[in-house]
Amino acid sequence: MISNEIEFHAPATLGEALGLLADDGDDVTVLSGGMSLVPMMNLGIVRPTKVLSLNKVRELAHVTERDGQLVVGALVRHAEVAANPLIRRHCPVLASAAEVIGDIQVRNRGTIGGSVAHADPAADYLPVLAALGGSVTLASSAGERTLTPAEFFVDLMFTSREPEEIVTAVSVPKLAAGWRSAYTRLARVEGSFAIVNAAAVVAGDHSSATVGLGGVGPSPVVVDVTEQLRDGADEAALAAVGAVVREAARDASGDLMSDATYRREMAAVFARRACAAATATQAEVRS
Ligand SMILES: Cc1cc2nc3c(=O)[nH]c(=O)nc-3n(C[C@H](O)[C@H](O)[C@H](O)COP(=O)(O)OP(=O)(O)OC[C@H]3O[C@@H](n4cnc5c(N)ncnc54)[C@H](O)[C@@H]3O)c2cc1C
Repeated sequence: MISNEIEFHAPATLGEALGLLADDGDDVTVLSGGMSLVPMMNLGIVRPTKVLSLNKVRELAHVTERDGQLVVGALVRHAEVAANPLIRRHCPVLASAAEVIGDIQVRNRGTIGGSVAHADPAADYLPVLAALGGSVTLASSAGERTLTPAEFFVDLMFTSREPEEIVTAVSVPKLAAGWRSAYTRLARVEGSFAIVNAAAVVAGDHSSATVGLGGVGPSPVVVDVTEQLRDGADEAALAAVGAVVREAARDASGDLMSDATYRREMAAVFARRACAAATATQAEVRS
């Protein structure tokens, strides 16, 4: 139950929102879809006294192309990430991850900016951003900065965002023709958070192959599997991917959903599946 009074702000421009944070950043909590924040408020885990809603800031709700990248505004909802024609065409693995987030209500409200800011280690976007070498853009009234996933995701549900900053966009590379990608996840039931998840991004000629993993540590893990997949993705190559992924996931820890050994093993299994799916012809990017 939310029992305290809340001062609520809903500016229509990014400039106004940043102005509010510049004056009062330490005391203001940003609200996007509310799919993580509101449950935390209901449970009394957080008790914000000032809430800054971004929901009227339309300039954050667009997907655009810039310098070979797709720039996805922070307020773009998961359902739009899943359906957006530019994303589906040039970076289908991001759409695949968005498609399986929670349920339809969560996908219709939750945003990509809120998801990365929340930084749940099993969130569906995180391994995808890691595998793609995407980036997160933050703005404050002092300017803008763009960070790699490794720079942004610092620890368990902890990012390098400063209190006066807003996540304004997530950028991913437009995959060149012939590149292939796939996203896989292990969850107990459809609609629940992943226990582990894996994204694979592979060049058409196998000169580059990367796996991003979630759920095996406080922040996403990137594994270069180019050597393992250089000559194709037969059973032996996929077994070699499993071996390097198991080693990369060595710091996984246990929780109520699974113990550490199971997470490591499942990371290996789902990374192999992602690589197998990514190297299948239908996953090819056609530009
Ligand atoms: C039932 C349920 C099932 C779910 N299942 C999944 C799942 O399977 N996979 C998955 O990945 N996620 C899942 N989620 C989480 C969901 O994806 C949320 O949408 C996401 O975590 C937060 O996005 P939001 O826009 O709702 O952010 P909010 O809840 O509004 O905010 C989350 C946090 O980020 C901060 N924040 C929000 N936007 C910004 C911004 N632009 N700049 C700076 N800080 C910001 C807030 O202050 C808050 O701390 C689930 C949620 C629910 C309720």
